[in-house]
Amino acid sequence: MNIAILSRGEALYSTKSLLNAGKARNHKMEVLDPSYCNLAVENGKAVLYFENELVNDVHAIIPRIGASNTYFGTNVVRHFEAMGIFTVVSSAGITNSRDKWTCFQILSQHKIPVPRTLYASYFEFEEQVKTFGSKPIIIKLLEGTHGEGVILSASPQNALATIETLNAAGVKFLLQEYIEEANGADVRAIVVDGVVVAGMKRKCKIGDFRSNLHRGGTSEIIALSPAEEKIAIKAAKALNLGFCGVDILQSKNGPLVLEINSTPGLEGIENTSGKNVSKSVIGYIELNATK
Ligand code: ADP
Repeated sequence: MNIAILSRGEALYSTKSLLNAGKARNHKMEVLDPSYCNLAVENGKAVLYFENELVNDVHAIIPRIGASNTYFGTNVVRHFEAMGIFTVVSSAGITNSRDKWTCFQILSQHKIPVPRTLYASYFEFEEQVKTFGSKPIIIKLLEGTHGEGVILSASPQNALATIETLNAAGVKFLLQEYIEEANGADVRAIVVDGVVVAGMKRKCKIGDFRSNLHRGGTSEIIALSPAEEKIAIKAAKALNLGFCGVDILQSKNGPLVLEINSTPGLEGIENTSGKNVSKSVIGYIELNATK
C-alpha cells in the first residue's frame, strides 16, 4: 500500500517510527509536509497537489498535525477524506479535540466522566469562581498544549486576578476543579482501532503539578485498570479518532478523562511501555484501507 504521513519532518521520532513500521510491512511510505499541499476542487472533484505534483496514488494517510498548524493541516486531512482516502484520524476529530471545551462537551454527550469544568462569558466569572468555594482552581487556555496555558490558582482572589489578565489579553479559557488526589500524575492511554495498545503513568517534576513530559515529567509503565481502559476507548470513539492518546486523571471518584490528543507523541510511550505503537497503526490501516 502507499501510505503518506502528513508531518513537518522525517527527523521527528514519531514520524521515523511510523515510517519504519510501514517499511517493515513492505508498504511504500512517504512524508508529505501539509504546508506544501495545494488543495483544489476541479470539475467538482477534490484534487491535491504536493509541491505542484498531483497526488493520486495514496491509499491511506497518517496525519501528524501540529498545534500551530491546526487550521490548514485539518483542511488537508479533510481534502484526503473528500478524495475517499482512508485516514487514521478524522479531520473533525482533530478539530474537536484541539479545543478543550468542545472536547468536554462531546465527552459529556457520551456520558464519559470528566473533571467539573466551567466556561462562561466574562461577566459571569465572579459567580463561577464562587462555586469553587476556597478550593484551588485550574484555569486553562482552550487551545494550550504541552502543559503551557494551564494555571493552578491557589485562591479565589488569585483566580480572579488571572481571569482579568487573560480577558485583558483577549484569551479564551475555562475553569476546572483541581484533582488534588491525582498527585501531579496522570495516565496516558494510546488507543488504536478501539483497543488500548499502550499505557504509561506520567508524574510531574518536583514543584510542578503538570505531568507533561515536555515539562520535565517522568514516566513509568502501568497496566490500566478495566475502568480506565473502558473510558479511554469510549473517549476515542466519541471523538471519532482511530488513533489517539487519552489522558486520564485518577480521582477519588474513579478515572476522569482530561484530554484527547489526536497527534500523540510516540517517543515517550514507545520507550516507556516497550510497545510498538506504530506497528499497531500500520495494522489498523491494513485492515481498513483499500488499494
Ligand atoms: P495540555 O493539553 O497542555 O497538556 P492538560 O489539560 O492535559 O493540558 O494539562 C496538563 C497537565 O496538568 C495534565 O497532564 C495534568 O498533570 C495537570 N492537570 C491539568 N488539569 C488538571 C486538573 N483539573 N487537576 C489536576 N491536574 C491537572
